[in-house]
Amino acid sequence: MNYNKKSIEDISVAGKRVLCRCDFNVPTKDGKITSDKRIVAAMPTIKYLVDQGAKVILCSHMGKPKGEWKPELSLKVVAERISQLLGKEVIMAADVVGEDAKAKAAALKDGDVMLLENVRYMKGETKNDPELSKELASMADIFVNDAFGTAHRAHSSTAGVADYLPAVSGYLVQKEVSIMGKALAAPERPFVAILGGAKVSDKLNVIKNLLEKVDTLIIGGGMAYTFLAAKGYDVGKSLVDNEKIDYCKEMMAKAAEKGVNLLLPVDTVVADSFPSPIDAEIPVEVVDCTAIPADKIGLDIGPKASAEFAAAVKAAKTVVWNGPMGVFENPILSKGTKDVAQALADSDAVTIVGGGDSAAACEQLGFADKITHISTGGGASLEFLEGLELPGIACLQDK
Ligand code: ADP
Ligand code: MG
Repeated sequence: MNYNKKSIEDISVAGKRVLCRCDFNVPTKDGKITSDKRIVAAMPTIKYLVDQGAKVILCSHMGKPKGEWKPELSLKVVAERISQLLGKEVIMAADVVGEDAKAKAAALKDGDVMLLENVRYMKGETKNDPELSKELASMADIFVNDAFGTAHRAHSSTAGVADYLPAVSGYLVQKEVSIMGKALAAPERPFVAILGGAKVSDKLNVIKNLLEKVDTLIIGGGMAYTFLAAKGYDVGKSLVDNEKIDYCKEMMAKAAEKGVNLLLPVDTVVADSFPSPIDAEIPVEVVDCTAIPADKIGLDIGPKASAEFAAAVKAAKTVVWNGPMGVFENPILSKGTKDVAQALADSDAVTIVGGGDSAAACEQLGFADKITHISTGGGASLEFLEGLELPGIACLQDK
């Protein structure tokens, strides 16, 4: 995959109709936006287009209307919020590619901004229907993709439309691609990847792909216990993917063959059972991973493991982190995740966090502004780390 893609600054947008795919999939409650983070994040691209005198046609999905016209998933509330942030009117279309949208798009003046209705009101969107792609393209001269969260999907508004229009990235997508692309293609070394989260099976291809690239691979979180079991340790009641034991053995052999330093936790925080509710105050103790009692479950990495992982991060020039080190939703079990986040925050390396829960953990723990880049796309960033081609990025013009 080529990560060197043209952005809005590489083409002339003045006076042009620009269809800009954003990620306005914001959470709402009782018709009100509960977090406008994604809208705020899209503002630099929107402002640039307005300042350049483009005729801006914004589009996005919200929720999963599955081709049905669900009024509670209307983007009207988003138009109002953009309008407040921009300090100018945002024209709201009553449909996606219908008469109203087309008439309003045709009437735009330089610097005007309009927003199409929820693109997933159209059945063709998630099917990447060429008819819908053509209809979307017919309203514009240029396509800008600024929605990284959906870049791993080949939908009409994320990729299909680029078959009919010159396509470039917005600032958000550009940042994702340049930082993560560089880390994967030409990382400054030592390159350390930290993987965690619940299950090995969720991240098989990420482990495999990163083993080809990194100097050190750290495995923590729930997935570590399958590796520990593959080493022949008794892991008690900890989470183990029994079908993946052989895979873990293979990965450990591959790491040895490639000279990759594979680090597993040497100690772990255990309890009698998984907390229920998840944030329940439960008694815990720390044990070495060679001595996990048969009736205990491992729910976080221990302090020795944290210190080892932090030392590896300290020596690194590039760090990629995906997946919490423990059941971080519970304050008693969030120490390992916090320690790793702290190590990233203290590091001078390029630090990248991908994955919905790891990103949430960084924000929740207050480390977000000390990380070089927190990816805005959970699924998309995982596929990126797997080395897969993302349709919403592959469709953009090469530099
Ligand atoms: P991300 O969204 O960052 O990619 P995942 O979704 O893969 O991360 O994993 C996050 C989940 O893994 C969290 O809900 C966390 O509670 C769970 N988890 C972490 N460690 C353990 C463990 N030892 N046992 C069970 N679940 C775990
Ligand atoms: Mg997750």
